[in-house]
Amino acid sequence: MKQLFTFLILTLLSINIFAQHTCGINEQDIEMITQRLLKHKQSIKEGNVPVKSGNITYLPIKFHILSNSSGSLGIREEFVLQQLCELNDNFIDQDIQFYMDDGINYISNTGAFDNPSSAAGNIVLRNNKLNGRINIYIPQTASTGGGSIGTVLGFYSPSNDWIVVRAAELLNLTSTLTHEIGHYLGLLHPHSGWDAVVYDPAIHTPTPSVSPGGRPTENQARTGSCRNCNTAGDFLCDTPPDYNFGFGWPNCNYDAGTLDPCGDVVDVQENNYMGYFGSCSEYIFTNDQKQIMDIDVADRKNNNTIFSSLGPTNIETVEGDVIVNFPAINGVSSQSESVYFNWEPVPGATDYIFEYSRKLGGFSGGARVMLTNGQNDITIDEPFLPNTEYQWRIYPYNQTSTCYGFSETFEFTTGNITSVAQIEEVDSFEIIPNLVNNQSDILLSINSTESLDIDVQVVDISGKLISNTNNNLIKGQNNIDLSVSGLSSGVYFVKLQSKSGLTTKRFIVQGN
Ligand SMILES: [Zn+2]
Repeated sequence: MKQLFTFLILTLLSINIFAQHTCGINEQDIEMITQRLLKHKQSIKEGNVPVKSGNITYLPIKFHILSNSSGSLGIREEFVLQQLCELNDNFIDQDIQFYMDDGINYISNTGAFDNPSSAAGNIVLRNNKLNGRINIYIPQTASTGGGSIGTVLGFYSPSNDWIVVRAAELLNLTSTLTHEIGHYLGLLHPHSGWDAVVYDPAIHTPTPSVSPGGRPTENQARTGSCRNCNTAGDFLCDTPPDYNFGFGWPNCNYDAGTLDPCGDVVDVQENNYMGYFGSCSEYIFTNDQKQIMDIDVADRKNNNTIFSSLGPTNIETVEGDVIVNFPAINGVSSQSESVYFNWEPVPGATDYIFEYSRKLGGFSGGARVMLTNGQNDITIDEPFLPNTEYQWRIYPYNQTSTCYGFSETFEFTTGNITSVAQIEEVDSFEIIPNLVNNQSDILLSINSTESLDIDVQVVDISGKLISNTNNNLIKGQNNIDLSVSGLSSGVYFVKLQSKSGLTTKRFIVQGN
């Protein structure tokens, strides 16, 4: 019993230790970012600062969702959309917005999913990297393979110029991605020099004037002989000193009274995006940090690590209600083997996540389809169970506007499957075109193995008969013109009825 007790305590302790989160940046990365930062500071000194136009600068992002080799366990798209929404919210006061360039890339590779920093994982990431965009990979874990304290939530690799953020950060909508974008755009930690060492009063009193990372420890003073903010820490004077106080600190108020090497009490800025305090409600970038990032954006467009030729094709905000056409809300669908879903285009939306499932709790057991190019309808041909309750919803978005979230959940019941024999003699039956756009005729292409007497019926989604004509099919190919002028937009069915059976096909009228 005592052993079990000890084991429990140790387990709790280790959970506590590993609940501490860092970004997996190593000494070499820090050096590379420092070189960029110092170059940008030199630009500021020389007056080469990009003029803010007041217009929004749009930066292209390529998201890569990693999953295991069988394609499962990857993060669901809505979390990527919500993360992008959050990122844009965090950068809007700086007139920087991020957008998805050409959708999401999917990578099914267990090695990269479990350890993107392994040699094999690195190759997978490299092969998927899209130049000129901010490449963000979302695997299960973001381990860098050593050199870091705590659990690595994400990292920016300057040598590869990509960002890796583990899926849990998106699930919990943390500020980790914003932090890594800060690194990507040339920022260091305010506690730079203490990146891999936590300030421990038992070891670090008095505070050493050289940090564990080998650079000068930043002093609190902003005037006088103790002032060293230009050459210590993150080299920025509007971010106060930080000796990695945030790692393990339980709240957003550091009050340990730690003295700097000059003997002044350090007044850390807990809620800086680039620090390690995890419990603040709101985070900020300082003006100096924003200036460095602005210069880095201009520099990246010059050196083509962000293609300046790229830009979003749609900057509309997705807004408005989701208005459902089919299946009717809480109605009975007339086709239970194949269900047609249709909704009014949501203003601003070019893409939708479509989800449906049986009405059994959440959507996790259902299926989803990513719809692009404004497609606002879909036919699901998988067999639906008869007389069963189903639910569905959509998430409308475009490449810049991803905050909408899922619509409310719509429900419907499948009807009876009417088991009617197919017409044996009809070898093939197509409706051309299947989607009728401002046209007055459709063509029924029917191949029959025998000459045959059939009725051709057009019915609407509710089953109402629109027209009925009698036709004699010849053996072989038959082309029958059918007028659809006067039909309003919607879903219709053509039924071929013979003495021996019934064959049904669906077509859609749009824009009439
Ligand atoms: Zn970091």
